[in-house]
Amino acid sequence: MTSNSVYLQVAIPVPMRQSFTYLVPEALAELSFTKGDRVLVPFGNRKLIGVVLAVTTDSQVATTKLKAILERLADESKLSPEQIDFLSVCARYYHHPIGDVVSQALPVLLRQIKPVDLTPEQCWKINAELSNEDLNKIIKKLAKSAAKQQALYQYISDHGELTWPEIRMAGFLKSQITALIKKQLIIAGTVKSEAFVFTDDCINCADKLSLSVEQAVVVSSVNQQLDGFSCHLIDGITGSGKTEVYLQIIEEVLKRSQQVLILVPEIGLTPQTLQRFEKRFRVPVVLHHSGLNDSERLQTWHRTKKGEAAIVIATRSGVFAPLVNPGIIVVDEEHDGSLKQQEGFRYHARDLAILRARQLDIPIVLGSATPALETLQNALSGRYQYHQLTKRPGNSNIAKIELIDMAQQQVEFGLSGSLKKAIEVTLARGEQVLIFLNRRGFAPAISCQECHWIAECQRCNKPYTLHQKQGLLVCHHCGSQKRIPAQCGKCGSIRIKPLGQGTEQLEQRIGDLFPEYSAIRIDRDSTSRKGELAKLLQQVTDKEHQILVGTQMLAKGHHFPDVTLVAVLDVDGALFSYDFRAPEHMAQLLVQVSGRAGRASKPGKVMVQTHYPEHPLLQDLVQNGYQHFARYALIEREQARIPPFGFQALFRAEAAYPSLPESFLRQISNQNFTDCLISGPVAAAQEKKAGKYRYHLLLQANDRKHLHAAVQQLLKNIEQSELQNKVRWTVDIDPQELSW
Ligand SMILES: [Zn+2]
Ligand SMILES: [Zn+2]
Repeated sequence: MTSNSVYLQVAIPVPMRQSFTYLVPEALAELSFTKGDRVLVPFGNRKLIGVVLAVTTDSQVATTKLKAILERLADESKLSPEQIDFLSVCARYYHHPIGDVVSQALPVLLRQIKPVDLTPEQCWKINAELSNEDLNKIIKKLAKSAAKQQALYQYISDHGELTWPEIRMAGFLKSQITALIKKQLIIAGTVKSEAFVFTDDCINCADKLSLSVEQAVVVSSVNQQLDGFSCHLIDGITGSGKTEVYLQIIEEVLKRSQQVLILVPEIGLTPQTLQRFEKRFRVPVVLHHSGLNDSERLQTWHRTKKGEAAIVIATRSGVFAPLVNPGIIVVDEEHDGSLKQQEGFRYHARDLAILRARQLDIPIVLGSATPALETLQNALSGRYQYHQLTKRPGNSNIAKIELIDMAQQQVEFGLSGSLKKAIEVTLARGEQVLIFLNRRGFAPAISCQECHWIAECQRCNKPYTLHQKQGLLVCHHCGSQKRIPAQCGKCGSIRIKPLGQGTEQLEQRIGDLFPEYSAIRIDRDSTSRKGELAKLLQQVTDKEHQILVGTQMLAKGHHFPDVTLVAVLDVDGALFSYDFRAPEHMAQLLVQVSGRAGRASKPGKVMVQTHYPEHPLLQDLVQNGYQHFARYALIEREQARIPPFGFQALFRAEAAYPSLPESFLRQISNQNFTDCLISGPVAAAQEKKAGKYRYHLLLQANDRKHLHAAVQQLLKNIEQSELQNKVRWTVDIDPQELSW
């Protein structure tokens, strides 16, 4: 028996682009259902967790064909109506199955049927019962014998109470907690479960900086508009004090007892920024990022949802955080590519954050030293409020970029003579050097000296990268690995040599060239273990190493006050890429890397090696800076009607035979649209990857309405296509990478 008056529209994590109608069984008829409820439903012969999108009193489908839900799950894990509205808009905008979108907004443990453990999280605080006399004695002893333990004690004391993820993020170990408990300096407890309410001691004014005129104007402008939606771009050169501006805006929001959501590209890379937040505000801060395990993520989710968390610092999926009393959203480094999800539900966290702020009717602040051209255009056209920070406090100079013409140079291990000399001089002054090469591994290929055979991954038709330390060839496209062959695969010769240079080799060569200094490498390979990155960064700050070799990981957020020379070994690839965004990304990278150098009082220098020193893009960037470069690039984009002056969608398809994705895409696009241009199908830049052949179709229109209409039509065509199940296909709205 079922209760006939109510129908539930339920989102279920299945690939179908629709919601499903369910009945409420008689046994649950007493319950009143609302959108956001989590329910257990039968689907085929499975049971799945779904989320109620709407409660209706009539159904499009005959009642006799409908099934009833099995159960409604715990109330404290439901989504709010605001979240459901937001997720529905997301699904529509990205033409992505609603079930999958909703499931992304739930922590992994809430997507499972198994009941979840919601006992409050453990935390540690200082033992207040210890007498001052005893305390002083122990601390004095600690300072001599266990400096790390003393630092942890101080850290906990500064914060009131801390959970394990918070302690771990600050670079401490479990054994240090245990040691402090043994000495009775700290005690274990559970996190207080109360909604955040502002009190005067929430703010630590001691390290508050006085603002420059420029900064003060931005702070007061945003703070006067906290009552409704407004979108702000803070375009501030590196070192112009964006973080202090964020802090003083956030202070005002906290004073209203409201929550703050801060989106950042990668938390592991910005510990210094994190520390400043934690030092300034004595409020509950929760972190949401990939370094947490599933139950830690669930705790973060609940503390946000119950309003305990005053500040949520999160990577891109934090845009779906269950805020209950939000006051502002901040997106730091809004230009950063990692804000866009590149698989499955391909959303851009910055764009969704703006959408959400509008829906929540709260302000949003985007910040960058190198704004994305899309964002800059919106600011220049007046859609966003445009704030510029053009000065560095204390008038420290921005590092100058110098181009090195490689044609004029003696080159040794990829280093030009001029660069080598500059490195020597810098090291001799007792300062640090950062060398930047965007290629991991020892060498990008190995080749036979006799017949020029190159070891290639058969699944991708691309050279294997040599990782000498591991003794492996690794395909950077599909991840497949094999042992380094002793002989040529074609002629059998044993004269096999590495071709070209990656960071692993560079680190070794640098060690040979400058034996009296210590060099370390920071890239994905050297920091794959948890906590390793924080450790290496700390060693650099402590000046244990003088030379840093790394990939673009090093360009993000972290600053190194004693690095006064930054070298970029190779930028030429970006000058001739067919992806129209490549020059923009190159410019952002160069400026961001420059920003790592010469902070504080020491002037910095950036040297860029290139074979094309006269290239107009490089010249413009070096002579006139990012602002000028960006405005010029916008003019070019406008003439070509490409984003942000046109709108794009990309249909990607892949299969084991090249004919399949090609005919599939041809079939679904076999019609003319008056206001939307379709190009392709063409083979992807990397035509074969992991054994699959890849093709795409690019849709381009002058306005979003026509783009979405065409996407809609193509999706309809796909439903009719007999090839739809023979290929793997995706649609990407506002694609960031056309050369996939
Ligand atoms: Zn050979
Ligand atoms: Zn491969």
